[in-house]
Amino acid sequence: MGQSTEILETIQMLKAFISQKIEMGEESLVAKGLTEEPRSLEQLYNLVKDCRRCGLAQTRTNVVFGEGREDAEVMFVGEAPGRDEDLQGRPFVGKAGQLLTQIIKAIKMRREDVYVANILKCRPPGNRDPLPDEIRCCEPYLEQQIGLINPRIICALGRIAAQTLLKTTAPLSALRGRLHSYQGIKLLVTYHPAALLRNPQLKRSTWEDMKFLRREYDGTIIT
Ligand code: SF4
Repeated sequence: MGQSTEILETIQMLKAFISQKIEMGEESLVAKGLTEEPRSLEQLYNLVKDCRRCGLAQTRTNVVFGEGREDAEVMFVGEAPGRDEDLQGRPFVGKAGQLLTQIIKAIKMRREDVYVANILKCRPPGNRDPLPDEIRCCEPYLEQQIGLINPRIICALGRIAAQTLLKTTAPLSALRGRLHSYQGIKLLVTYHPAALLRNPQLKRSTWEDMKFLRREYDGTIIT
């Protein structure tokens, strides 16, 4: 048997093995695009920074990984970077981001003490909604990020973040105002700050959600 035939057969066996694992619901890290189990956010960032798993790699300027404390107790998750974020490679730095920083301050927390990230790490052109395939490709990174940070509370910002994390199609109005669980972590839902910029009337409801977050946070402090 020639060497090239052996290589071809090995590749076919590997393909069959991976297909079998996926069919069995055992999607491997390789199939998820994660070639190794990252042990720190830095290792994870090194996997994500050159990612080309979906079409957004062609239009992004920078990957927007997320930022904050590696051991943050509170994590905010939005849907995707916008124009300013794409240009700077940092999450929530535009007008909506500045509003988020004010909101965090209003509940007597500091932005540098929380962690801020998005479902997608690259900007959808024109700030359109993420496509289901883009979410499927990118979500494993966020799962890893949350696993490494292991916050006590996650705050989902907006419908898409909430529906993605909670695996539901329920409207935002049905998800706000109560506690959910994401892999055992408390999760609550509020409006995306960009929605508040478009519709300032939502600020009152958002303030109620933030007071709820603060109460839950205070209630889980270990003394
Ligand atoms: S959006 Fe996510 S999956 Fe798509 S290229 Fe960017 S990092 Fe990769």
